[in-house]
Amino acid sequence: MPLCNWSENVQFSSAQIYAPETIEEVQEIVRASRKVRVLGARHSFNDVASIDSQVEDATASQGRAENSSWAYISLENLNVPTEFDSGRGTVTCNAGITYGELCRRMHEEGAALHNMASLPHVTVAGACATGTHGSGDGNGNLATAVVGLELVTADGELRTLSLEEDGETFEGAVVALGGLGVVTRITLATEPAYTMQQYVYEDMPAAALYEHFDDVMSSAYSVSLFPDWQDGKVNQVWLKHRTGLWEETPATAAGSNASDATAQTVPGRKELFGATACRKEINHVANLPPDGLTPQLGVPGPWHERLPHFRIDSAPASVLELETEYFVPRAHAVPALQAVEGLRDLFKPLLLISEVRSVAADRLWLSQSYGTPTIGIHFSWKMNWKGVHEVMPVVEEALLPFEVRPHWGKLFTLAPAQVQAAYPMMDQFRSLLQSFDPEGKFRNGYLDRYIFG
Ligand SMILES: Cc1cc2nc3c(=O)[nH]c(=O)nc-3n(C[C@H](O)[C@H](O)[C@H](O)COP(=O)(O)OP(=O)(O)OC[C@H]3O[C@@H](n4cnc5c(N)ncnc54)[C@H](O)[C@@H]3O)c2cc1C
Repeated sequence: MPLCNWSENVQFSSAQIYAPETIEEVQEIVRASRKVRVLGARHSFNDVASIDSQVEDATASQGRAENSSWAYISLENLNVPTEFDSGRGTVTCNAGITYGELCRRMHEEGAALHNMASLPHVTVAGACATGTHGSGDGNGNLATAVVGLELVTADGELRTLSLEEDGETFEGAVVALGGLGVVTRITLATEPAYTMQQYVYEDMPAAALYEHFDDVMSSAYSVSLFPDWQDGKVNQVWLKHRTGLWEETPATAAGSNASDATAQTVPGRKELFGATACRKEINHVANLPPDGLTPQLGVPGPWHERLPHFRIDSAPASVLELETEYFVPRAHAVPALQAVEGLRDLFKPLLLISEVRSVAADRLWLSQSYGTPTIGIHFSWKMNWKGVHEVMPVVEEALLPFEVRPHWGKLFTLAPAQVQAAYPMMDQFRSLLQSFDPEGKFRNGYLDRYIFG
């Protein structure tokens, strides 16, 4: 069975797959190989992680190139302890650990991250490499928690970079699309563990959203809108409230069905800008059961069991799907959403659901929120490769007036020149890649297209 990504629309080019247990082994593999890519959890929807493949319908592909001096490195067996520095407020771990595993360990130590993606199944290095994000007006993407990196570079040497000591180089190195080397250890800023509650509201009139956009998006620590763009409404609004430091109470200890937790709770509202509170747990995709989702209905729980939509012990989506996502500066949010809503007829046969989230500005060169707070407009599409390929350019055309940036880990058809023009630090990033990897050992088709193309 050829190696594919999670959604099985990308078949990776053939190469040796290694799962080293030590950093010395990683160094040897890198030295001995002509081409190297690191595999995270393979949850990206394009060929960012593959050595040379094209994005296509993998089931229709005709077989890929083979090369015995090409290497995929998985860090799933890498023996690196998870270490907490309570003085500095950091955790250092195997960069290939999943958020699910890391956050469980962090919570046991009373530590937390500022944010998580919709699913905890992705790896820390893989998610940060593509600018993966959650939501929250005050929350930077996941990569903004990174304060240190240890990398095996193209010559097999071990190099460390830190926010404190490496200034601009560090800002270029965190969201780096796997192009600088193998990130072996990663250090993240932590904060004390906290409690959260999640409420869902249904059927917010789109007009109310456009009129009160900032109020809606700031109505909780993390807010997700789920529109299908039909019928002039937002199908669901998910509010994730941060309520206080985590404290084990009889109610929280009793687990997700606890109903008598009283300490520091946020009472649910009956109504939110015209949307009504949901009285039972529901799935954000119509007609699917809420199985596998994190608890709703305001039940208090630990941060890592409320920030993601999907539970770690469940499949990381309701059905197999294709995903695209576009970011626009926050200042363009309402006209950009209205432009997308105008395409509603096109979406009807293809769309499972959209999700709109806010991301705070940052200084990471290739972050989709570099220099500006953004709104991410995400599309979960049915597995219809041809249909998705037809609709993407239309969405992109509609969003081009709004300084659009695509998600590095999802599907898009914007031309390389359009992508590059959206990033003011693109030249500097290109130089950084060349200085770390002059012979292009970590370069693949994706980097050739979107960074060097
Ligand atoms: C169901 C689903 C839900 C999703 N939800 C969200 C969401 O809520 N928010 C969001 O922003 N995105 C989301 N995504 C997209 C996903 O988070 C990104 O594509 C992310 O990059 C995937 O992480 P991964 O561990 O699978 O990395 P991979 O896809 O395996 O790799 C991504 C890139 O990182 C590189 N890489 C991985 N590990 C290392 C390392 N140790 N050193 C150097 N380079 C490395 C790879 O070579 C590749 O270039 C979702 C994807 C799926 C399938």
